[in-house]
Amino acid sequence: MLEKINQNDWISALGDGVWAYLIIPDPVLRSELVERGAIRQSIETGQQVARQVRERFPGRRAAEILDNLGARVILSQDNPRWGSRLQCAEYQQRPPQVTIYERAMEEMARVAEDFRLDLFADPTVMREVSLSHELYHHLERTEYSPVSKQFRLVSKRIGPFTFYKRAAQLDEIAAHAFAQELCGLSSSPGILDLLMRYTSAAGRSNLFRQSQEIHTLD
Ligand SMILES: [Zn+2]
Repeated sequence: MLEKINQNDWISALGDGVWAYLIIPDPVLRSELVERGAIRQSIETGQQVARQVRERFPGRRAAEILDNLGARVILSQDNPRWGSRLQCAEYQQRPPQVTIYERAMEEMARVAEDFRLDLFADPTVMREVSLSHELYHHLERTEYSPVSKQFRLVSKRIGPFTFYKRAAQLDEIAAHAFAQELCGLSSSPGILDLLMRYTSAAGRSNLFRQSQEIHTLD
């Protein structure tokens, strides 16, 4: 079945924000967040912040904007991974700094090529997308507020005390939406991020099936 899923299938299966739903793997958490409008809000926030940044820094690239906002950009040849997942870039708040992992960037571009996601099959595009993504994280920490803060979840209640947690995936959704808008891309980098999380053929078939269910729910 999988070999029949070509580029257009993946883009139509995971486009239109479907990737954003699936980035939250826990179906219970996902439906709670959908009900509260959190996923839509995350996408809209990312897009809105990107439009404001474009107005503020017309014609500037993400690296220049970061520099202007006092964040350093470091290009690294390290290739860190989280389990089987590649790490392309990293944001650190103190001191403000973005690290771009060049080798991961090349690997991501190759994966994009395998999926025939031509848009992301160029390491230069991947680097601009990743810098934009991390620029959003810098802005959410310094000038805006993370979307996940608006949608706190009850973690547990003990007697009169309520403990909360945040769904960090919402901030990832916002960062992907920001990067897409700022870079003017026709598809979301969230699609590639999601595909990178499902490395086996069985996993990807499963992902495709889930995406079809979400479309059916719409
Ligand atoms: Zn991120």
